[in-house]
Amino acid sequence: MHCCVRVLCCGNTKGAAVQNNPDITLITAGAPITASKHGGRAKCLQRLVRLDLPVPRTVALSFGTVNRITSGDLPDMAKILEQFAPDSLLCVRPSSEDPDWGGPGAVLNIGMNEARCAELGETLGPEAAVQLYQRFVQAYAVHVAELDPDLFDDITDTGQPGLAATLRVYEEETDEPFPQEPGAQLAGVLRSMARAWGSTSARLLRQAKGAPVEAGLGLVVQQMIPLVGQAECGAGVMQLVDVVTGQLQITGRYRSRNRERAALGATTTLYLQRDKRGPALEDVAPEAFAALTAYAALMREKLREEMQVEFVIENGAVHILDGVRAPRSSRAAVRIAVRLAQDGIITPQEAVMRVDPHSLNALLHPQVAPGAKRDILVTGIAASPGAATGRIVFTSAAAQASAARREPCVLVRRETSPEDIRGMHASVAVLTERGGMSSHAAVIGRGFGLPCIVGASSLRFQTSKGPITTADGRVLKAGDMITIDGTTGQVLAGEPEMLGAALDDAFQTLMQWVDAARDIEVRANADTPEDAQTARNFKAQGIGLCRTEHMFSQPGRLTVMREMIFADTGAERAAVLERLLPMQRDDFAQLFRIMQGLPVCVRLFDPPLHEFLPTSRTGQRELAKALGLPVSDVSRRVETMFEYNPMLGLRGVRLGVILPEIYDMQVRAIFEATLLAIDAGAPLVPDVMIPLVSAAPEVELVSARIKAVAAAVRAEKGRDFNYRLGVMVETPRACLQAGEIAPYVEFLSFGTNDLTQMAYGLSRDDAGRFMSNYVQKGIYPEDPFHVLDVDGVGELLSLGADRGRAASPEITLSICGEHGGNPESIAFCRDAGFDYVSCSPYRVPVARLAAAQYAIRHKIGLDD
Ligand code: PEP
Ligand code: MG
Repeated sequence: MHCCVRVLCCGNTKGAAVQNNPDITLITAGAPITASKHGGRAKCLQRLVRLDLPVPRTVALSFGTVNRITSGDLPDMAKILEQFAPDSLLCVRPSSEDPDWGGPGAVLNIGMNEARCAELGETLGPEAAVQLYQRFVQAYAVHVAELDPDLFDDITDTGQPGLAATLRVYEEETDEPFPQEPGAQLAGVLRSMARAWGSTSARLLRQAKGAPVEAGLGLVVQQMIPLVGQAECGAGVMQLVDVVTGQLQITGRYRSRNRERAALGATTTLYLQRDKRGPALEDVAPEAFAALTAYAALMREKLREEMQVEFVIENGAVHILDGVRAPRSSRAAVRIAVRLAQDGIITPQEAVMRVDPHSLNALLHPQVAPGAKRDILVTGIAASPGAATGRIVFTSAAAQASAARREPCVLVRRETSPEDIRGMHASVAVLTERGGMSSHAAVIGRGFGLPCIVGASSLRFQTSKGPITTADGRVLKAGDMITIDGTTGQVLAGEPEMLGAALDDAFQTLMQWVDAARDIEVRANADTPEDAQTARNFKAQGIGLCRTEHMFSQPGRLTVMREMIFADTGAERAAVLERLLPMQRDDFAQLFRIMQGLPVCVRLFDPPLHEFLPTSRTGQRELAKALGLPVSDVSRRVETMFEYNPMLGLRGVRLGVILPEIYDMQVRAIFEATLLAIDAGAPLVPDVMIPLVSAAPEVELVSARIKAVAAAVRAEKGRDFNYRLGVMVETPRACLQAGEIAPYVEFLSFGTNDLTQMAYGLSRDDAGRFMSNYVQKGIYPEDPFHVLDVDGVGELLSLGADRGRAASPEITLSICGEHGGNPESIAFCRDAGFDYVSCSPYRVPVARLAAAQYAIRHKIGLDD
């Protein structure tokens, strides 16, 4: 095997001299190369050298050297050039500390000039040599001399005339001849790369990927291998896995450069592995192919990562130019990490640490295929991940009709309300013009696992029932086919190619390792039997929040609910609620059955009652008919219930105080269902949660009433059962008063949606309209409805938790707002000593993984 490094290093004393030069370090096995000084690429190349792989001779320039180049202080070019054979062509590549931070593009064929072109003409053939030179001049002109690439667009000639034209443009635009000296060319390239790294756009781009402000750039200068010879010559990249699925399969690309092959008009792009569809490298150069796959496997094992190998084949011999972490989709990332651990290359804990929790969403839902064409109609807030294609419907009725015809549809609304729940259920995805991360559509969408985009504020509704116009003037009517990509927030025209959900063996294995490492519980917010089943499938450790109001929007119940709202006296109300009791008992019995004894936290009724009343004239007419009342009575009643600020009005515990019959019915249903669960052999102690509390006396009053109902049920049934009472802490005052509230309850669950809304004085339903603007301006680092505001809302949480714990040391603490499923927020909850987080069922695996990563980080002492 031809090995460039070994051949060129042997007996070479220049190497030793270079190792004493602080600016230039020849990459050898023992050279003082570090990722923090020379960048990840230089360090990786050294590892390849240490593995004795055939890596061409390479020199590394440190961050400090490149910094000095930026200020005009160039290293000695002669010292760099003397590391390479005199007639070498060189390439320069960036080497940032973390390869993900990027860097300027590589510049190849440095050293190309008139003389070299003539020489290469003899081995490569004049055409290939001229083409190489012309390409280099053009690349140099654009990257180094910063000429406009358009200047070369009109050059259609090939061969010598094309080269002459390219050189002419260069000379006319720069007023200088094209530099012939390799040293001058190299200096120009180094300067241009240092300059590119310092540009504002490059800085912003890498900072967005997590690079620190002062991140440095290293450069590697590598000898290029002339692809000359009768045997196989070519260049390509290879990895041992399919980058989309992560399955074992040799993938990549290879371009054969053999003059003979090209001259015969044969295809120059070959498959790597033997393939029925056409010629492959494995056919034309089996030995090179075998060597290459062996190198790739060695790199995987020793670098402890699935690598993409950049290689050339020179007259049948393989040279490894570079190795980078193989690109991968989210599902491939899971399979790759799991297989590395199963092969004993990394530990299961390392595998857990290698999967980004945010990316797990892509496995839980269908996605737009990575390579699919995206015709973007509008972009909004990515409120619930996954992608789905369907025909546009503008009303819930149309969604239900579409579902009945088994035609997938996307519900498009200005915003959704409880009346739309059935329509949402009948749709494959939801799009709203208004709203933010915790608006109705977003919360329900996540609960249902429906891809959902909210706050697509550039959409214009011509009427509330469509059609809609996009910012670029396209009109979308009912029946038009669109795709909602709830992972990116993009609404796409038509039906792009999709990739199915992947809850496969690799995912299951990873999650077993996750649960072994985790030290905080994860429960699910689940309101329906389907939610509860999803929660169980995703191994939630119970239900942390069951929002009971959704249960009253179901068919057959809404009218009874409205009748209850219209009741004039407590006795009348209690009589109507009697009819709701068996339905509600059945709801809880089903949830308890599915959860099989796992904890279930039922939140008592929360929203303002008028949300259940029809706002339209038609709706009010229908209700009047159903209740046998004059329409004017119904309209008047709806009007009297009007509130200027319903989210701060008669809702939550205030309803429990003012209209106590509703909570009486609900707790009776919970207790009777508890007895049914005991009968069924899956006993549980239900958690009963009171929402929107702001004062301890509210809890004292409601708690006394709940106790009375429990006593009544015990007496009537002659049976015993237990329950735990808790408060949802979602007003700032409840946080401040947690010490006073705690003695009445067994648990405090922080509702960070309302808490964020009230802490900021920012409507969770309207903030989406200007949130991106606020984030872009840097006023908020993130949407606080999405990522917990640790500084403000977090302080309220800590304060509430501390005061609650001080008053009642055994109290259970949890968080059940949307933040419960957000990886960054889970870190906060874990550090604050919360017992569990509760989130939408589809976010449970994400929360489990994030919690495991924080626990592992804590264990190995990586905590911030
Ligand atoms: C909350 O306010 O955080 C919460 C979980 O309740 P909801 O979203 O139903 O208001
Ligand atoms: Mg709330």
